[in-house]
Amino acid sequence: DRIIGSQETEDDIYIVPSVRPQQINEYIGQTAVREQLQLSMDAAKMRNESLDHVLLYGPPGLGKTTLSNIVAQEMGVTLRQTSGPVIEKPGDLAAILTRLEPHDVLFIDEIHRLSPIVEEVLYPAMEDFQIDIVIGDGPAAQSVKIDIPPFTLVGATTRAGLLTSPLRDRFGLVQRLEFYSDDELTQIVTRSASILGMHSELTGSQEIARRSRGTPRIANRLLRRVRDYAQVKGDGIITQPIADLALNLLEVDSLGLDKMDRRFLETLIHKFEGGPVGIDSMATALGEERGTIEDVIEPFLVQQGFLVRTSRGRMATSHAYRHLNFEES
Ligand code: ADP
Repeated sequence: DRIIGSQETEDDIYIVPSVRPQQINEYIGQTAVREQLQLSMDAAKMRNESLDHVLLYGPPGLGKTTLSNIVAQEMGVTLRQTSGPVIEKPGDLAAILTRLEPHDVLFIDEIHRLSPIVEEVLYPAMEDFQIDIVIGDGPAAQSVKIDIPPFTLVGATTRAGLLTSPLRDRFGLVQRLEFYSDDELTQIVTRSASILGMHSELTGSQEIARRSRGTPRIANRLLRRVRDYAQVKGDGIITQPIADLALNLLEVDSLGLDKMDRRFLETLIHKFEGGPVGIDSMATALGEERGTIEDVIEPFLVQQGFLVRTSRGRMATSHAYRHLNFEES
């Protein structure tokens, strides 16, 4: 696992429960999403209805699960949590839906991974709070409609485009989470540090924030490592030099690139004169799978302007040359 990977890892489990925001006013950033949700929740409460179904999309680690927890909390209902790949059969989903209490929030992570037959069950459930159940089999089989309590589905996915359009169309609210600014991540680090009983100086939090790739999950993970370093090598206070030394030790550089990112750019610049080069040649040169490169390495490098993908192949930008201290040829 890469320390700067944005997927949840075993390592995160030790820190998540305590630092995860519980209330909307503890949820930092994502102002537009928060305001929209707050408005819809207030309206639903006034009408004594369940909140409209919500689709949250965006890269891992930006706070989709956290937000769904907060929605349930604010609405004063229970959160039921599951994920697309876990619901194997229509009956699994029917069992979950029939056990809900009125206005409960059902959170389905990776909702784009629901199988088509399970998705079919969701359509009438979302639209009319009904499910169709088949009783018996063979020629005597009968389909009956049963009512389920009104509920709110919160679906999470990395890209809205991964959903089928009938599913996407059934969400009343579709919200995209954005990468966090350095300022927002600084606030998150400072807040988490204080929950963990640590003092983090402003410049210490800023150093961690800058290297966290816009992602709170990574910020909290790096904080945990810096905390160890501060306690063992320093006096427990997170200062800028301590954060810098700890993160250098983890080989996370000043802009959040790790060894794998740098090796990718160095190979592109050294072996292929900065490109353009095809993805398969890069994969062979690095000894990595093409899929890993496309899904795990490239997105951040592209988003940060280190790499461009052209029709002729991948190219390193001037920003990449400068960051790695190479002369552009
Ligand atoms: P996702 O579901 O999008 O993968 P999570 O909701 O699990 O992401 O968030 C990852 C971690 O980041 C959480 O444990 C939480 O502590 C932290 N986090 C996410 N969003 C925020 C936020 N807006 N403010 C503070 N901490 C956050």
